[in-house]
Amino acid sequence: MKAIHIPRLTQAPERTETLEFKESIQGLDTLTPVQGKVRIIHQGNYLEVAAHAETIVTLSCHRCLQQFNYRLSVDPSEMIWLNEADDATEELPLDRDLTMDDLMESLPPDGYFDLQKWLYEQLCLGVPQHQLCSKSCAGIDVEDKNAQVVDRRWASLNALKGQLPS
Ligand SMILES: [Zn+2]
Repeated sequence: MKAIHIPRLTQAPERTETLEFKESIQGLDTLTPVQGKVRIIHQGNYLEVAAHAETIVTLSCHRCLQQFNYRLSVDPSEMIWLNEADDATEELPLDRDLTMDDLMESLPPDGYFDLQKWLYEQLCLGVPQHQLCSKSCAGIDVEDKNAQVVDRRWASLNALKGQLPS
């Protein structure tokens, strides 16, 4: 996936480039190639980027620790400011409050838009916070040996436990 030279976009019809892709993304562990479409519009002082991308990843269930395959599908869109002065790698000053501008992505207008890196970030953001193999995952199957009542005096209590709503 090639980086896109930003000035070249101004020459494109309607200053728009639409790309389809189906390839693996460096650093992203997926079972299938990342497949989708991206549209980049040069809007003068910013790029408007919108994409659809999907792939299959292997996740570990947070409840039962089993691995499972998950269809990761994202539809990100973002405005990326074209700002000469604002070097993206510049460190933010600590002695003043941050403005929204500080938090926006920006690129030099004569630079490159790294599509692969952007897609990588969007897919990472799309990975669910709570990874469950299924909604009804019961969790780790712990064999509770203590449930076998040793002391007969607890037997009635144990029977009662089974009747209580959980
Ligand atoms: Zn599970």
